[in-house]
Amino acid sequence: MRPALFVSHGSPNLIGEDTPAREFLAGLGESLGRPDAIVVASAHWETAVPELTATSQPETIHDFYGFPEALYRLRYPAPGNPGFATRAAELLEGAGIPASIDARRGLDHGAWSPLLLMYPKADIPVVELSVQPGQSPAHHIAVGRALAPLRNENVLVMGSGGAVHNLRTLERGRPGDPVAWARDFDEWLDRRLSDGRDDALSAYRSEAPGAVLAHPRDEHLLPVFVAYGAGGPGARGRRIHNSFTYGSLSMAAFLFQ
Ligand code: ZN
Repeated sequence: MRPALFVSHGSPNLIGEDTPAREFLAGLGESLGRPDAIVVASAHWETAVPELTATSQPETIHDFYGFPEALYRLRYPAPGNPGFATRAAELLEGAGIPASIDARRGLDHGAWSPLLLMYPKADIPVVELSVQPGQSPAHHIAVGRALAPLRNENVLVMGSGGAVHNLRTLERGRPGDPVAWARDFDEWLDRRLSDGRDDALSAYRSEAPGAVLAHPRDEHLLPVFVAYGAGGPGARGRRIHNSFTYGSLSMAAFLFQ
């Protein structure tokens, strides 16, 4: 059974920067092996209820501003799979979670940026899943859990967000060597994910050190809960990468099973 995955996608500059995170992601596809399909919950698609992309040829969305021109020329031409998107939506509905499909939307950089490094051939069908900032961590754990059976079908269920993500605190000249509050939150998250306790994770905003500083809004953390949930009940997280960029932007990655 394929483990569920969470990756931090960092800045759109991820692709072009020589960082430990880029090197890690560039080797990750090979170490995980080739899935038959990928469903990826992205922090950059916010909706009221879970939605899934259902185009056969999703466009590459360049949803960032003021970055180097070369980034806007990148394409990730992976196919979609409308039938698979419908099946994922049915799994959510079957778990009592209203869901819908979006027959137009393509892939935003939360989805394609790490996948371009992991699976550069872009030949594996990708379905993107939205997050719901108006809903709780427990809701996102339930979303992941509903999709957990797909792991038996050689589907990679993944979340793409940021383990620590506050754009106001970035320090351009400080690539690694995180500030204390960012490291403290990152370590708390690692401990709680490896404990595998839903209640502690769900209460992160009051329980974790520096939570509000680490996540002024929690859209970049929500994909962690989806991936954790997709590991199934009692899943334990295992951190497979740990680095920072810009002093506080965590690039942590986890497997769940
Ligand atoms: Zn992002």
